[in-house]
Amino acid sequence: MKSLVKNLVETAAPSGFEKPIRDLILAEIGVSSTDQQIDALGNLIIRKGTRTPTGKRIMLAAHMDEIGVMASFIDEKGFIRFTNLGGVFPVHCVGSRVKFLNGVEGVIGMDKLDKPGLPTLSQLFIDVGAASRAACPIKIGDAAVFERPFAVLGEQWVAKSLDDRIGVAILIETFKQLKETPHEVYFVFSVQEEVGTRGATTAAYGIDPDLGLSVDVTRTGDTPKGIMMEVALGKGPAIKVRDSGMISDPQLVQALSAIAEKSSIPYQLEVLEAGTTDARAIQLARSGVPSGCVSIPCRYVHSPSEMVNEKDVYNTVNLLVKFLSESLPF
Ligand SMILES: [Zn+2]
Repeated sequence: MKSLVKNLVETAAPSGFEKPIRDLILAEIGVSSTDQQIDALGNLIIRKGTRTPTGKRIMLAAHMDEIGVMASFIDEKGFIRFTNLGGVFPVHCVGSRVKFLNGVEGVIGMDKLDKPGLPTLSQLFIDVGAASRAACPIKIGDAAVFERPFAVLGEQWVAKSLDDRIGVAILIETFKQLKETPHEVYFVFSVQEEVGTRGATTAAYGIDPDLGLSVDVTRTGDTPKGIMMEVALGKGPAIKVRDSGMISDPQLVQALSAIAEKSSIPYQLEVLEAGTTDARAIQLARSGVPSGCVSIPCRYVHSPSEMVNEKDVYNTVNLLVKFLSESLPF
């Protein structure tokens, strides 16, 4: 799974430009065209299983897009001002390298600040080494992602875009390992999550599921002077109870917890005070869908060096495979 994750995180695909990741997933999964669909927004939807009388139609979602930047203005000297695609924080930007989708690399620099402190995004620029606007190989609207190779630090994996390529990898692996299911399961690799769960919104409308589950990263409280949050790396998948956009269906939280306990899979309960996932969009689809989320604990979310624990990754796959293999008690 490690090499799959490396391939996924080192592919550039910011919100709205997900095709390279979608192609990679299709090559990896290789299903027949009758079981797969790419919808109008670009979501990749793959179906597995037929619903039995005790089964449900379940939508699983992991988003393909990653945060990035987009060129918004180029000055006469060839320096590029940019806007964000998703939650880009200036604190992570200065000195970072970005790579545009046409292959051009750049460095993020900043204006001289009047007061000490953090710059705003509008005080930052990308330097692609061009001598002038005319020589700049970037045009307005070109998108870029942060550039950082995959690294293994002991038990932890570090990369940009683990949010949510780790979820994508987990869905791929779950798809491969799931042999028997009473459910009709839709594996949705969604677009444009980082700009407001847009892909999951239309995918959920189209699928009309009985139950929704997103697989995404969550923050942790296990770093020095970190946030007050129980979730930590290495303690298992986090079953979301709530985040700032959604309260999970309590029966689903209970069912996931019970399966983890029965299968001796370590797990944590998650209360996230800032942020949400595709599950919010699924929950609010049509006349409402009971929904929840299985999160992978992740340090430094939305930085170019996000960190997850490999055992958490494998345990998340185990939990999902077990969950999908059984009928639900509700
Ligand atoms: Zn995410």
